[in-house]
Amino acid sequence: MDCIFCKIANGEIPSEKVFEDELCVAFKDLDPQAPSHILVIPKEHIESAACIDSSNSAVIAHIFEVISSIARDNGFDNGFRVVSNCGESAGQSVMHLHFHILSGRDFAWPPG
Ligand code: 5GP
Ligand code: ZN
Repeated sequence: MDCIFCKIANGEIPSEKVFEDELCVAFKDLDPQAPSHILVIPKEHIESAACIDSSNSAVIAHIFEVISSIARDNGFDNGFRVVSNCGESAGQSVMHLHFHILSGRDFAWPPG
């Protein structure tokens, strides 16, 4: 399968990793939208948030523990935003589930 994030997960494409374990990888976004912009992905190919079900949701719970730990380790004490764009109209450009962790600036609500 020709998936950029599968290739990042298996090391075929280099990335600036900030965390990795047997289930997920976190790495810096190539085109940061905030002073800190990290992506967290499951190593398993899941297309988007629309494909989460009881067969794969354990890794999602794990990823949210990792997100919390990344926020603590990186001093995101003033706040951070977690975003998962799902589908074309939401702006998903890579069809491998990922969570953006953004921090270091203020964020508008509602988002654009
Ligand atoms: P999406 O638009 O699907 O929500 O987010 C995809 C994100 O992946 C974008 O923020 C984009 O900058 C990032 N991205 C795309 N290709 C690469 C890559 O090869 N390496 C890294 N580090 N980030 C990437
Ligand atoms: Zn993939």
